[in-house]
Amino acid sequence: MTLPPPMEAGKVYLIGAGPGDPELLTLKARRLIDAADYVLYTGSLVPDVHFVGIRGEVEDSKGLTLDDMVGRMVERARQGQRIARVHTGDPAVYGATHEQIARLEAAGVPWEVVPGVTSALAAAAVLGAELTIPEMTQTIVLSRTAGRTPMPPGEDLQDLARLGNATLCLYLSATLVEKVARELIAGGRPASTPVAVVQHATLPTQRILRGTLATIASEVRTARVRDQAMVLVGPALDPELRHHVGQHESRLYAADFSHRFRRAERGGGSDDPAGPDIDATLPPSEPT
Ligand code: SAH
Repeated sequence: MTLPPPMEAGKVYLIGAGPGDPELLTLKARRLIDAADYVLYTGSLVPDVHFVGIRGEVEDSKGLTLDDMVGRMVERARQGQRIARVHTGDPAVYGATHEQIARLEAAGVPWEVVPGVTSALAAAAVLGAELTIPEMTQTIVLSRTAGRTPMPPGEDLQDLARLGNATLCLYLSATLVEKVARELIAGGRPASTPVAVVQHATLPTQRILRGTLATIASEVRTARVRDQAMVLVGPALDPELRHHVGQHESRLYAADFSHRFRRAERGGGSDDPAGPDIDATLPPSEPT
């Protein structure tokens, strides 16, 4: 077992802090935040409880422009400081990291991205929902509805609605849920499609609203959900599924299903007797 490399001087770490619960920081995120000389965090979304008692200087990026932010990071990096740029969830998802990375590259400042738990998956966890239910849906879409940022051609919710029963995880869209429902119905999703809205997932202020495409807008309006909420849409969000024993079950653990690591109990139902894999799409050496 080798120890992880120490935080490097003069380098910017773009770190995902997860959805809010301090225990959902990765060990790596925790270690880097603790070791940093300078922490720049997205104060509108990342709770400052993550930074209590740390040794470094802590600054909220809320009031800064991109140039201010990068300017501060570049200046400190050149002084040999260790920098933690802390984002909510995972930095790769609506994290506005691409433009920071491009500027750091241009300035010749080394950088590294540390992943975090994105809020779509935190919301799924608090709902107790599997987003990929066999023979119902095997696809997850991470998207949003157009706000001030327009959607590129072909990515409107009407287009995404046509992806079968795919579970849609919509960021930045809770205040526009009426439009979301309208567009998904126009794209062919039934009005009875289950929808869940999770606000402040994993934080003490967490709230869960459930409904359908027909009802969710009024639920959200009545509950006055405004900030920091995820909208999840699709039949996989049906809360009744937890009572359906014996339906939509993965073949992986089925008693009559053989695979490389287990022989069927009765009448081996593998497609490939020569060398069955758990999933034909996986290379043979990788169990799920
Ligand atoms: N990088 C972040 C997303 C930033 S965009 C991530 O990976 O989660 C901001 C959007 O993320 C919000 O509009 C909301 O849709 C979602 N979000 C962030 N934190 C959340 C939380 N704790 N609960 C629910 N949604 C959250």
